Amino acid sequence: MTNLQQRTAGGVDYELTRRRVKNINLRIRPNGTVAVSAPLHTPLAVVDDFVAGRAGWIEKAKAETLHRAQQAAQQPLPDAAEALAAFEQMSELVFPLFAGVLGGQKPVLKVRSMKSRWGVCRPAQRTITLALQLYNQPKAAQIYVVVHEYCHFLVPNHSPAFWAEVEKILPDWKARRRLLRQ
Ligand SMILES: [Zn+2]
Repeated sequence: MTNLQQRTAGGVDYELTRRRVKNINLRIRPNGTVAVSAPLHTPLAVVDDFVAGRAGWIEKAKAETLHRAQQAAQQPLPDAAEALAAFEQMSELVFPLFAGVLGGQKPVLKVRSMKSRWGVCRPAQRTITLALQLYNQPKAAQIYVVVHEYCHFLVPNHSPAFWAEVEKILPDWKARRRLLRQ
C-alpha cells in the first residue's frame, strides 16, 4: 500500500501524504498540482474539510503559479557569453573556499541550455556546467546554485553531509533555493 492518496474535496484534486507532522500542510507545486501532508492519525474528513475550506485560495494560487511558470518558459534565453561572464564572477568569490580540495586549480565553468536542472558538477573533470536559464533567475538563487555545485567537489551526492556543507557557506540556502522557479 502506498502512502500517497489521490483525493478530491470541495472541487479540489489533491495528493495526500501521511507524515509524522503536527499540522496539515498544503502546498501548490510549480506544475499546479496540490500536495497536502497530514499527521498520521488525522481523520480523512478533517483533511478534506481543510482543503475544501481553502478551495478559493487554492484556485487563485494555482492560477498564479501556472501563469508564472508560463512566463518563465516564454522568457528568451539569455546571451551565453554574458551569462558565463556573470557566473565566472560568482565563481571567483566561491573558489577560495574550495581552493584546498581543488588543489588550487579553478574548475572549468560552462553554460548551456538545460531544461531539467540548474547545474551539473563533474568532480573528476573539475567542471561545473550551469543552465543558461539560471541567468533569468534572481541573483541570490544563482549564487546558491554556484555554491551548490562547488559543494559537490566535497560531497558528490545529496546526503545530509552535502547539505551541511552548503549550509556552512549559505545559511539561508533554503530561502535562496525557493526563489528558483521552474
Ligand atoms: Zn546537486
